[in-house]
Amino acid sequence: MKAVVVVPGKPGSAHLTDIPQPKLVDVPDGRGVLVRILRVGLDGTDREINAAEYGATPEDADYLVLGHESLGVVEQVGDAVVEFAPDDYVVSRVRRAEGGSVYDAIDTPDMTTDDAYFEHGISRVHGFLTEHYVEAPRCLIKIPPALKHVAVLLEPLSIAEKGIIEAYEIQRRLKVWEPRRAAVLGAGTLGLLATMVLRNRGRQVTTYGLNPPPYPNSVLVEALGARYVSTQQTSLLDDVAARGQHDLVFEATGYSPIVFDAMCHTVAKKGVLILASVTGGMRRSDVPSDAINLDFVLGNKVMFGTVNAGRQHFEEGVRDMAIAEAQYPGWLARLLTHPVEGLEHFEQALSNLSARDVIKTFVKIAE
Ligand code: BGC
Ligand code: ZN
Repeated sequence: MKAVVVVPGKPGSAHLTDIPQPKLVDVPDGRGVLVRILRVGLDGTDREINAAEYGATPEDADYLVLGHESLGVVEQVGDAVVEFAPDDYVVSRVRRAEGGSVYDAIDTPDMTTDDAYFEHGISRVHGFLTEHYVEAPRCLIKIPPALKHVAVLLEPLSIAEKGIIEAYEIQRRLKVWEPRRAAVLGAGTLGLLATMVLRNRGRQVTTYGLNPPPYPNSVLVEALGARYVSTQQTSLLDDVAARGQHDLVFEATGYSPIVFDAMCHTVAKKGVLILASVTGGMRRSDVPSDAINLDFVLGNKVMFGTVNAGRQHFEEGVRDMAIAEAQYPGWLARLLTHPVEGLEHFEQALSNLSARDVIKTFVKIAE
């Protein structure tokens, strides 16, 4: 079958090739689910892997199949599978519980303490820019057919869900925490989806992006009843000084210095700052450390990092997609700005990643 593969460590190595078709028996004990891949979304992680800044091959391969944001349809199931049937739409979790930590043992590998993890299309497990895969039922999330046109967004949505669900879990320390004002830093795909989740929860949301409005992302923010602020026009600090601090701040810019601005002035007392950007670079910054420390100590504030997502976060993502479709019909589909027809045009999708007006680019592999 056709597949888009990279050679990790070799910049610009993405190319189309032929790889062996997976078999139902690749998962033992009759527990295999054979999935035909329909759509695969791309993001900055794919670009970094193709730039040889990130990514690792499976143990028995000298290449890695790219792609971790998927939607597929079940074609065949093993004798012992009761959870899925042919024609079910599914999204696969990205991280596999193959590590040695206790978190892998309880199937929450997003919390693994191992340094090297197993992620489809990213690290040591092949991804989805191909035609078929075989997985165990516990790795698959069932998608209601009415959501299949937007379900390729479920994986990035699961990242937002995990951060926000964890924030509420952590804040149970306060017994009476009821966040009113929330901020999302960054108006890319992740920032937009985090804005949606917070609006679904009825919070007042301000989403900060770079570009001056109106442009598609700011229009999408406002369509959710959230406020958009361009940090080129009003800095984060000025906006907070004028409008007040935020009880919950979700950082999704990919620009690490903003974290320290957020730490210093943006989070309200007892508030929580969620860090969700994977920043692979070597950037350094000078920070007002006494002020930041004092602010966190005297304000009983929390900051935490979050990566990847577990089953619960994907499932909550499905529910939030359904709520969004009911509350803001058509909104999710407007994120799918740049479809690319067919695996053979994957290079178009990779180059879309650096284009200005792209929110989500994805490859249509089959109907
Ligand atoms: C993926 C996550 C993954 C992270 C780190 C992101 O692009 O969406 O699932 O855990 O990269 O590899
Ligand atoms: Zn990703």
